[in-house]
Amino acid sequence: MLMKLLKSPFKWYKGIIIEPQIRDFFLGRIWIRTSTPFPQEKIETYLRFFKITPGISEKRGFFNRIIFRCNRCHNENQQEFVHYNCARCNQTCVYCRHCINMGRVTSCTDLITWNGPKPKFSRKHVLDWDGTFTEAQSKATKELTKIITRKNNHLVHAVCGAGKTEILFPAVLAALKKGLRVCIATPRTDVVLELFPRFQKVFANTIIHALYGNAPVQSGLAQLVIATTHQLYRFENAFDVVIVDEADAFPYTFDLALQRAVIKVKKQNSPIALVTATPSHQIHAQVKHEKWGYSFIPKRYHGHPLPVPEFQSLWSYEKQIQSGKIPRKLLNWTETRLNNNEPFLIFFPTIKLMEIAAPLFQQINENILSVHAEDADRKEKVLKLRNEEIPGLLTTTILERGITIKNVQVAVVGAESKIFTSSALIQISGRVGRNVDFPNGEIIFYHHGITTEMDEARNEIIRLNTEGFGDKKI
Ligand SMILES: [Zn+2]
Ligand SMILES: [Zn+2]
Repeated sequence: MLMKLLKSPFKWYKGIIIEPQIRDFFLGRIWIRTSTPFPQEKIETYLRFFKITPGISEKRGFFNRIIFRCNRCHNENQQEFVHYNCARCNQTCVYCRHCINMGRVTSCTDLITWNGPKPKFSRKHVLDWDGTFTEAQSKATKELTKIITRKNNHLVHAVCGAGKTEILFPAVLAALKKGLRVCIATPRTDVVLELFPRFQKVFANTIIHALYGNAPVQSGLAQLVIATTHQLYRFENAFDVVIVDEADAFPYTFDLALQRAVIKVKKQNSPIALVTATPSHQIHAQVKHEKWGYSFIPKRYHGHPLPVPEFQSLWSYEKQIQSGKIPRKLLNWTETRLNNNEPFLIFFPTIKLMEIAAPLFQQINENILSVHAEDADRKEKVLKLRNEEIPGLLTTTILERGITIKNVQVAVVGAESKIFTSSALIQISGRVGRNVDFPNGEIIFYHHGITTEMDEARNEIIRLNTEGFGDKKI
């Protein structure tokens, strides 16, 4: 028995064998003690290597009122704390509604963080990418790489199609080679799914994990983590560099807890970089106020200007669709795409309207599909469009970003709707003309009245083109 133990690959530590997979999993993570991916007796055996924190902490506020705080998601919105009769502790407990999707954190929950011996991260990484940078990309790359040593926060403002993923490569490589741990977080699962294979391809020597809701369990000590911002609730004091891609996307911009999560997952003094095509006024103000670094890439990587949206009235489109008719202009537009064999995306303001419209479109071509956030086949449907297996997709704003489809043509139905903010419209327009072989394409805003947001989106695209191309005729 002893010989067997001595030969085992596990390391002895204070009389206990530490299994690397336990240490690697918990390093930098904060987890509910009783619901880990490991057998409970293992967790209890290793308990001395964990720091234990109560799930919910309480402090006294004005008039001696109790103020709750969730120690996993750092939520402090008191309306999201719910009292209930807890079967586990037989008392009235409080739980946090904010992060409930990841398992309930209550006042009688223990959260555990790894406090045992820490593994060293590898410094042997290679970047297998032979692309070239434009001048603006190259400048941004250098500026971004500097934050690793200078530890200052940074904003990369890169227009849609500027090649912002590639801009991250040199900075990520530089950090990894220093033995640092890097996190790329983004509010959208689609973006994680798009980024993960691209990073895997070029960083073949690096253990990379992709974390999102219902992601498969991945083994090994991940030095690069690509995660939705929600998944950051499960980390703490973990990363030396945090890059937030698509930092202006919903729900990150509207959710204070998600923004706090970015702060809590980074180690003290570690820098944050935000990367986006449409920085909000709030982000710009923060950059100015806190003296962040700033890189601006106004031009697409292929050197062609951004397609400018065209406004077209589509009066009473809702009524027409509800009465079983695709409005004439939209029908003509769709038929042109089908005749030209051009893939297309048609954005709808609501799932409801889209679902009424879908069978009407399927009468023209039965392969036209629709997709929305809760659609389990979302990934497959986008892939089908990319592989030219279907001619087009009807979609909600869920596909406004992170999607690249060669030669795609885009229409927005009901562009005046509230959900289509100027940044959403800029992102949607940014789907068009991304491929060097098809740098142009149609982006039509079909509307029932022009809104300020529509005007703002178009003006910003024109402004970016002017910035990128100076006074040259474009
Ligand atoms: Zn919480
Ligand atoms: Zn309880």
